[in-house]
Amino acid sequence: MNNKVIIFSAPSGAGKSTVVNHILSKRNDLEFSISATSRAPRGQEKHGVEYYFFSADEFRKMIAEEKFVEYEEVYAGSFYGTLKSEVERIWAKGNTIIFDIDVQGGVNLKRIFGDQALSIFIQAPSVEVLRERLIGRGTDTMEAIEKRVAKAASEMEFADGKFDYTLVNDDLETALAEAEKIVGDFLCR
Ligand code: 5GP
Repeated sequence: MNNKVIIFSAPSGAGKSTVVNHILSKRNDLEFSISATSRAPRGQEKHGVEYYFFSADEFRKMIAEEKFVEYEEVYAGSFYGTLKSEVERIWAKGNTIIFDIDVQGGVNLKRIFGDQALSIFIQAPSVEVLRERLIGRGTDTMEAIEKRVAKAASEMEFADGKFDYTLVNDDLETALAEAEKIVGDFLCR
């Protein structure tokens, strides 16, 4: 067993979920790491599918019990983290872990997993395109969108040079094909 991980990070709205879902649909030796979060479920989200949902108090208790590989307060009051048990669950099946994680978390995971990890930063073409995409998604309030856009701008700056690959999601088909190739090359290494 060679216990590999693939990390996808991006400002929200850069098309990260689309790329991640595409990669997951192409191979059956990959498995999505379900993060824990203290934010409320959105839309049809279910516990144990998109996230493991907990209250902020429950989340803090798990931090104290050292249950996380990494965690962060991504937005004020909203914690997100990778449980050690989730990593063990996926590796025990012999699968490679796919992480969909914020930029700081991605950098942290790359540092933790080193050569076992492939880290990919997905870049939106511009802050304006990002704002339009988030508005188009229709799942957030304008206030939440502006918060995400501001965070995205600083994340793009922060990410510079810290990932193994940067994928510019300008044309989606091109980005998907490129992601597939990078992942394929890493897995046969
Ligand atoms: P959302 O609320 O839109 O689902 O996620 C917000 C941000 O939290 C995204 O950038 C997502 O990638 C990130 N995120 C999800 N899970 C984790 C995690 O386990 N750790 C960290 N640090 N960030 C996460």
